[in-house]
Amino acid sequence: MTGATVGDVVVPKPNPDCETTHEENKARREELDKFEPTKRCENPEARKIQVAGQTIDGIDGCGVTISNARFTSASGGSSIPVSAQSNYTCLTAELKKGVVEGNPAIDRANGSLLDCDGNGRHPYKGPPEPSQAGGHCETRTLDELVKNGQTLSGGTLSINIDWRQDGKKLKHPCEGCHDMLCYAVKECELNVELCTNREDEDPPESVNMANFCPYDYDNRKSLSGRKKRNALLEALGGFGG
Ligand SMILES: [Zn+2]
Repeated sequence: MTGATVGDVVVPKPNPDCETTHEENKARREELDKFEPTKRCENPEARKIQVAGQTIDGIDGCGVTISNARFTSASGGSSIPVSAQSNYTCLTAELKKGVVEGNPAIDRANGSLLDCDGNGRHPYKGPPEPSQAGGHCETRTLDELVKNGQTLSGGTLSINIDWRQDGKKLKHPCEGCHDMLCYAVKECELNVELCTNREDEDPPESVNMANFCPYDYDNRKSLSGRKKRNALLEALGGFGG
């Protein structure tokens, strides 16, 4: 299930789930865009929104990552949709509907809910504060599955990541989530498929995360770490516009 490789390049393969989740991501972006006067970060002050009488940072298309995923357990049956978003706490009640929280912020200092290698809960990784990575789409998605009692082992998660930077639409997890997804693959025995940026191609495709694992955030500067990271970016690289 690791997919074909040609040299060091991972070749994507057709994945019908990605077609559905591309549509869901697109619909969510359109919904968010209605609330995003600052999606090009032109006016940071306009991000402020009122929640329960308090002024907090609001939705900003530059900072919001969204994802839609499908999880199928080892026992089969119908797949479970999992929709996640960063900046969850900034969402209005209406926008929170159908979006998973994952591990609540208050518990994130204790690490993720994934505990598969006998070394306790796997910690979140990344700057500026590791526990903040518990609010990323990928970690929320994995934590939500565990929180709901799903058995990751033998299951398959197809996840379609959508974030924006410098006007580019990007499909790859951050380095901290790269670590967490590899932990899920290697230690929890979850099969993870990442939808590629080829959303206008038919059929939609994905690459298997195992091609980019193991990945230890703390050793990401090592030769093997950089190779895995570069291969992932190559496979899921930016998509202009
Ligand atoms: Zn992340």
